[in-house]
Amino acid sequence: MRQSSTVGVLAEAGAAAAKGENHPPGWAGVRRTQEIATNCEMCFWRCGVLAEVADGKVLRLSGNPAHPLTGGRLCAKGSAGTALLYDPDRLKYPMLRTGARGEGKFKRITWEEALDFFAARLNELKAKYGPESVAFLPHGVASAWFSTLMKAFGTPNAAEPAFAQCRGPREVGYALTFGQGLGSPEPVDLAESKLIVLIGTHIGENVFTSQVTAFAEGLARGARLIVVDPRFSTAASKADWWLPIRPGTDIALLLAWINVLITEEIYDKEYIARNAQGFPELAAHVKEFTPEWAEAITELPAQKIRETALAMAQAMPAVALHPGRHTTWYGDDTQRSRAMAILAALLGSWGRKGGIFLPTPLKTGKFPLPPFPQSKRGRADGAGMQFPLASEEQGVTNGLIDATVAEKPYPIKGWIVYGQNVLESIPRRENTLRAIEQLEFLAVVDVLPMEQVNYADLVLPEATYLERYDVPHVVESAKKPYIALRQPVVEPLYESKPGWWIAREMARRLSLEAYFPWDTPEEHLSKLLEPLQVSACELKVNGAVSFPGRPYIEDRLPSDGPIFPTESRKIQLYSPALKQLGFDPLPRYVPVENPPLGYFRLIYGRAPVHAFGRSQNNAILDSLMPENEAWISVKAASDLGISEGQTVVLENQDGVKGLPIKVRITPGIRSDCLYLVHGFGNQSRALRRAYRKGASDADLMTRVKVDPIMGGTGMRVNFVRVLTDFDSGQVG
Ligand code: SF4
Repeated sequence: MRQSSTVGVLAEAGAAAAKGENHPPGWAGVRRTQEIATNCEMCFWRCGVLAEVADGKVLRLSGNPAHPLTGGRLCAKGSAGTALLYDPDRLKYPMLRTGARGEGKFKRITWEEALDFFAARLNELKAKYGPESVAFLPHGVASAWFSTLMKAFGTPNAAEPAFAQCRGPREVGYALTFGQGLGSPEPVDLAESKLIVLIGTHIGENVFTSQVTAFAEGLARGARLIVVDPRFSTAASKADWWLPIRPGTDIALLLAWINVLITEEIYDKEYIARNAQGFPELAAHVKEFTPEWAEAITELPAQKIRETALAMAQAMPAVALHPGRHTTWYGDDTQRSRAMAILAALLGSWGRKGGIFLPTPLKTGKFPLPPFPQSKRGRADGAGMQFPLASEEQGVTNGLIDATVAEKPYPIKGWIVYGQNVLESIPRRENTLRAIEQLEFLAVVDVLPMEQVNYADLVLPEATYLERYDVPHVVESAKKPYIALRQPVVEPLYESKPGWWIAREMARRLSLEAYFPWDTPEEHLSKLLEPLQVSACELKVNGAVSFPGRPYIEDRLPSDGPIFPTESRKIQLYSPALKQLGFDPLPRYVPVENPPLGYFRLIYGRAPVHAFGRSQNNAILDSLMPENEAWISVKAASDLGISEGQTVVLENQDGVKGLPIKVRITPGIRSDCLYLVHGFGNQSRALRRAYRKGASDADLMTRVKVDPIMGGTGMRVNFVRVLTDFDSGQVG
């Protein structure tokens, strides 16, 4: 642990205080502080943090300047991490349900009792229904210890919303085209770009420090910006071209852009000739998709489509076409991602400066583990079967929920939910509740009493990210790859325990300790670092260590592997894999349903000071943004006779009503859309600050359009109308 430079400052202040100089009333002398490096978990970006600690308390969190990616910056959420650590509503001790599911009645038990009960229930389910009857629904890097536990237990059934509710279509679409997905953080070379293209990506509203910084750097260096969004987002306010597209028509726009590049012969011909397969098929396919054709569909002027295509051609290959992150929109999402990947290929921007850079492999060490048992019954979530290109590692959450409800292909009777609120993160809440009703056992491991906790049989309080070790963060998709450490900066509060400890104790009880051949996370860390020639001590002091990167094609070494690791080692403009599976080998626009009369399409996004639905109970962030608002256009508000700030209720196409919400009237949204910031309208009484503030977009998502290629849930297919006359006791 490094002594901070602030110690010196405080020592000087102490000397002054001793002399009676400059000290405020109540000054009691010098406190020795330490700065301990770790990384943030207020969202998934995992910026480097320095925690200023004194007397076992965290005084302040600031950015760690030694962190290679985030270099000393934290966003508001990251700076507010202390309010999570000291949140009085935290889960404090293990609890066993005593009331009915959903009632929220529990009794406190000891860890011994909790873990024995947990292990006994898992063994019972295994004996009765087989190990596959237990499913794991995690979120985030910290779940890795439990993931090992569940694989060792013998269940193939694990699924996280990061795939089927977020990044999955993008990863699949780009992997089909370039042979690999993007990973996280996204390797988009925003800072070096000459032209940035955002399609439904809200940089500035979704704030990930290094991404926002690179975006600002790129713009400051003169990059031009195209923003495609039905809403005038923060990014749109910086744009050279804001294209307020009719929702659901992005593929038509992308095909028209591709058409212009090819018909005008302004794509990167040399790059395509050298690296790509399937160009003639692509050229023939897009021939009819002219800007005029797209104008009628997208409601964007053909001349703007042409103009923006020309701007891309002028800037290529330094075009940062951001692949997006939350990409599950309309159920055609893998094909939309394919269209984006094809466009990036025509611009020659994959592996090029200012485009999308390449990951640099890092070789880390691992303890040898016994092989995991293989299930004879296969997965229940449809990955690899119903959804042929779903990730088997990340699974299909909605597939798992459907299988639990239907008890097909076999019964799933136990869930372990880690670090997410399945009622909010996965659409079709009623279906999730139906699945929960079918369970004989539900265990939740979490830091806060999220709504699903009320339905759990067993609740295990996990230590916060500031109180625990997690699996180190190995990042290859940065210009300089790095490894970063999350380590405890203070002891766990109450009776909370770190995830690694819970998983290892469970392994002992289930006779699976061979899968956890280490006693401490430091031992695990030392093994991981062995091939990198970095000491655990160095990493603990600095928080992160980086390595030379080879981000562009010209930098690559043979040992890095193929640049395009497809079967042909070429970019697949035309996808034989999709053709073989019975899908369109080239993306095609298929019309989506429009809102019925009197309804708006429900669209949603993020706010810079909140992360998912996990930060609304945070005292600091709540003070910055306590509730969300329903954005509607000036015209729509006038038609409905609604005034700014008026409280309304949203009702969806299936008659489901949300909680009351205030209206924000703006010219910055299309008249056929209504926008909410995600994560509000929390229904857990135990989250006293967040309870019933604002409205939840997830509550209004009673239907989805499933992507047949990878199983993701397209969620922008819900429509809402605005009710001004409602009984507040009857809603939500
Ligand atoms: S972007 Fe903000 S919340 Fe996310 S990891 Fe970084 S500091 Fe934490």
